[in-house]
Amino acid sequence: MDCLTLDIGGTKTAAAWWQGGLLLQRREEPTAGDAPALLEQLARMLSGGPPVQCVGAAVTGVTDGRRVGVLNRQMIGGWDGLPLAEHLEQLLGVPAWLLNDAQAAAWGEYRARADAPADLLFVTVSTGIGAGIVLDGRLRSGSTGLAGHLGHGGARAAGGGQAPGSACSCGRGDCLEWRASGSAMARDLAALGLGLRSARAWMAAPHQDHPAVQDWLDRATRAVAEAIADAHALLDLHGVLLGGGLGLHPRFLQGVQRAMLALPARFRVPVDAARLGPDAGLRGMACWLQDRPDASD
Ligand SMILES: [Zn+2]
Repeated sequence: MDCLTLDIGGTKTAAAWWQGGLLLQRREEPTAGDAPALLEQLARMLSGGPPVQCVGAAVTGVTDGRRVGVLNRQMIGGWDGLPLAEHLEQLLGVPAWLLNDAQAAAWGEYRARADAPADLLFVTVSTGIGAGIVLDGRLRSGSTGLAGHLGHGGARAAGGGQAPGSACSCGRGDCLEWRASGSAMARDLAALGLGLRSARAWMAAPHQDHPAVQDWLDRATRAVAEAIADAHALLDLHGVLLGGGLGLHPRFLQGVQRAMLALPARFRVPVDAARLGPDAGLRGMACWLQDRPDASD
């Protein structure tokens, strides 16, 4: 199948054209701000590409397959309710589907390995935290697209009522994403007066050896391991793949693996590094267009 896949995140937007499973062309730009700017950007960015039979967009946030819904307004504002599939169909004249970016990446990681367990959780830790669930060899996105939003679970405080900027803007309070994501790391370390470096800068030598970074990593990786154990208790997983810029850093991955070993044996599940890297969403979406339940060819 000749298809176009998009990965539209808060930071970057990438497009890939595929022919018979082979990558023909790839383009990438910083994501434009609000919905009108994004649509204008897509029209420009996708013009002149090879002909395709369908298009699939992996998007940050919650999607029912047609519209983009926003959970965390601090990360992407102005897209909530955007009928992106309809816009893409009008723009390209072919059928379009949307999938959450972590769900698309989960499917890509599952399809990329012959030995993938049939019950698999993919967790990405970068600016935010997302996840995708594969059960019985099928991607489970849920009827509203909420399945796998691990980053907005684990809140210890009652939702609502917090001052803006003092808790996750999804409304649940101190979610996993609020405590253990790259944006949380940058915010927490800045609050200690240690400067305004990004998580990426903190995780590079020599800053990664700073005691405050070590303390933060201990807490964050324990929180991620606990969230994975919760998912395991709910779904009875056979394996977990950790991805994302922060999640793939050896210190983060090893921290999660160590924290997992400290849990009671029944709640442990093997955690390995994801393999596809930053193009997991583009590749996963291409696989999903081929494999989706209603695919006719
Ligand atoms: Zn949240």
